[in-house]
Amino acid sequence: MKTQPLYLGGKWVTSPTTLQVHNPANGQVIGEVCTVGRPVVAQAITDAHAALAGWRALTGKERGDRLRAVADQLLRRRDEVARTITLENGKPLAQSLGEVAMSVDHLLWFAEEARRAYGRIVPAQAPGKRHLVVKTPIGVVAAISPWNFPLVLAVRKIAPALAAGCPVVLKPASATPLCAIQFAECVEAAGLPASVFQVVLGRASEIAAEFLENRLCRKITFTGSTEVGQLLIRGAATDIKPLSLELGGHAPVLIFADADLDQAVETAMIAKFRNSGQSCIAANRIYVQRPVYQEFLERFAQKARELKVGDGLEAGVNVGPVINQEGLDKALSHIADAKARGARCLCGGRRMDRPGWFLEPTVLADVPEAATCMSEETFAPVAAVCSFETEEEAVTRANASPFGLSAYACTRDLGRTFRLIESLEAGTIGINDGAPSTSQCPFGGTKHSGWGRELGNEGLDAFLETKHASLVL
Ligand code: NAP
Repeated sequence: MKTQPLYLGGKWVTSPTTLQVHNPANGQVIGEVCTVGRPVVAQAITDAHAALAGWRALTGKERGDRLRAVADQLLRRRDEVARTITLENGKPLAQSLGEVAMSVDHLLWFAEEARRAYGRIVPAQAPGKRHLVVKTPIGVVAAISPWNFPLVLAVRKIAPALAAGCPVVLKPASATPLCAIQFAECVEAAGLPASVFQVVLGRASEIAAEFLENRLCRKITFTGSTEVGQLLIRGAATDIKPLSLELGGHAPVLIFADADLDQAVETAMIAKFRNSGQSCIAANRIYVQRPVYQEFLERFAQKARELKVGDGLEAGVNVGPVINQEGLDKALSHIADAKARGARCLCGGRRMDRPGWFLEPTVLADVPEAATCMSEETFAPVAAVCSFETEEEAVTRANASPFGLSAYACTRDLGRTFRLIESLEAGTIGINDGAPSTSQCPFGGTKHSGWGRELGNEGLDAFLETKHASLVL
């Protein structure tokens, strides 16, 4: 098996240390990638800083053209990259193809946004003065990405940073670095200047320490757990390092009696079981209004039973494995805890008798608020369902979480729709929509779910400084 080098300073660089990548569908080793320590990360930042002047000097249109060339390369290798995502992450191939398609769309969106780093001219208060608000690239960006959407969540950072004029050093998750290596191959093939994009891999805490303490690194953008986000916030205090943080979620789904129940079941299925439930915007708590509770449960559990579970490369598979033994153990403990507190298991609930980390798609009914899965992310195909009586009660229970990444509601009442949009404490709200993320709209969380927004126009702004120039001419 070839050991994958890292893309550093425009070259493919090997190192004596490596890490192995496993296929969660069978536990087999599928790749080996070089790892590096702080000195190499420091050099990558120095090289990125050296590349900054040339990269930011390009026009937005020129940087956009380079991003479009990367998108072309990714599209050309779409099938291969999707297969890699499935092999290292486990998700069904159709979902990996969707992830590549969304990554291409992010690149194309920010290729256009590169031309729109608008400032403004502000009328003066004093005669003879003129005020300009100007946006400039923030400088070298360090990006840390997770394993659950290993390509698209990295691209969500890389594309806007490059569009804004900032070189990027990416640290992908140790479980899923192979698609990041393939992305770097696309960057190389697209002819981007050396050191404008680099990939490092190794001990996360060591790499993060260099990102935090190196003064040439001017921003860290992170997607991952709230716990690591808190570590980064503490570490950022020393150098007052700007952070964008996309952290954990605990999405509520509110299903009202006036909803189209077929649509509600479909919305809940997508929000819960996509990516084997390992999504930061996954439904963690499904609240159903009393008059439709039983009917919803029957239809939803039936759909869950019909899901085909298996290796993501097998045709027709809807749900793959969870990422590792730890993920499986956590899900099983959440199920046991909910049952011990009185929840009824309508389907699933057990590890599957096959190699790899497979859990049967699980639906738990009558789950009490005290159950662990009602406050902690399960990150697995486990749906916790319970009933509510009134809209006010549903909103109160939905908001009684430290997380605020996404929330869903199913209703046909327009007045209620607006009340929910205004009152639900979440960065993204899906109304009858279980897959709300899109390139052109901001994505991010409130409360423990993070700081800042990716995508939309806001996504570019995260990598721009805002300067005021006051002119007396
Ligand atoms: P994680 O353990 O926080 O890992 C995320 C990334 O942080 C990985 O690259 C990891 O590297 C790195 N990391 C680990 N320890 C670190 C440290 N001390 N300092 C700096 N970086 C460190 O999270 P995960 O298990 O991969 O992902 C699941 C979590 O991410 C869930 O909570 C999920 O909700 C959240 N998430 C949020 C969003 C969002 O947009 N808000 C999107 C997806 C996922 P190693 O892999 O090398 O350990």
